[in-house]
Amino acid sequence: MKKSVSLTTVLLFIAQLTLFGQPQFQIDGKEVYKGEDVVFHQIDEDTWVGTGKMMSNESLYLVEGNDKSVLIDAGTNIKDLDKIVASITEKPVMLVATHVHPDHTGASIDYFSELFINPADSVGIPQFMPNYKGDVKFLKDREIIDLGGRQLEVVFTPGHTPGSTTFLDKNAKYGFSGDSFGSGNLLLSTNFSTLQSTCKKTSKIMAEYGIDKFYPGHYFGGNPETKKRVDDLKTISDGALSGRIKGEENPNGFMGLNLLINQYGVRVNYSKNALK
Ligand SMILES: [Zn+2]
Repeated sequence: MKKSVSLTTVLLFIAQLTLFGQPQFQIDGKEVYKGEDVVFHQIDEDTWVGTGKMMSNESLYLVEGNDKSVLIDAGTNIKDLDKIVASITEKPVMLVATHVHPDHTGASIDYFSELFINPADSVGIPQFMPNYKGDVKFLKDREIIDLGGRQLEVVFTPGHTPGSTTFLDKNAKYGFSGDSFGSGNLLLSTNFSTLQSTCKKTSKIMAEYGIDKFYPGHYFGGNPETKKRVDDLKTISDGALSGRIKGEENPNGFMGLNLLINQYGVRVNYSKNALK
């Protein structure tokens, strides 16, 4: 039964994202691996983006330091992901997730003995990763993951899910935000007050660190999350909560997310409970 719920969720995710009509797939940078399930391109010398094919360009990111590498998300179902990643980086790999959803913590997590998540997303484990045999470990908000000569800062950015998380590379002036800011089509499974405080917090950090973009969980090459996007989502949250911005009914919404605000070039899908 659980399996069929997951599959339905998976199919609905695809429907939702395909519906949005994302821009043409075009990621610049040298191709370093191409297989049936995933293609990896270089972002810069020590950073790569993997693009899965099962759920609307689900994206995974490999970030290498001197001592270890961090794999951010594992995609949907990528056979031999551990071997693929080891063909790109020689360093030991730590797997972290931006959130617990089947296109980020799908079956490919089974190739890794440990997975680090935001504890607030434990609620998603029974539905989305019930079969994982490895150890689930918890991240802390604002903790630093030291890769040797390179650091990732963990920033909890709830909204899409209760435990959505962004990973910042302060020196490189970019981050990896999963679905926290929607990749252009935000599915708000929590509520607008949560999104509002996430955007406020994130905007402040981006300004302070001079970070101008996040690589999203569904990357098409032309849709990084910008500070403007984060600020616009705050404006939308303010407007939705005050009643100034009203959503339209969306018959194609799923999992109860049947209201839609389509403004500032971003779509926010939510339910009436998100306004409480
Ligand atoms: Zn998601």
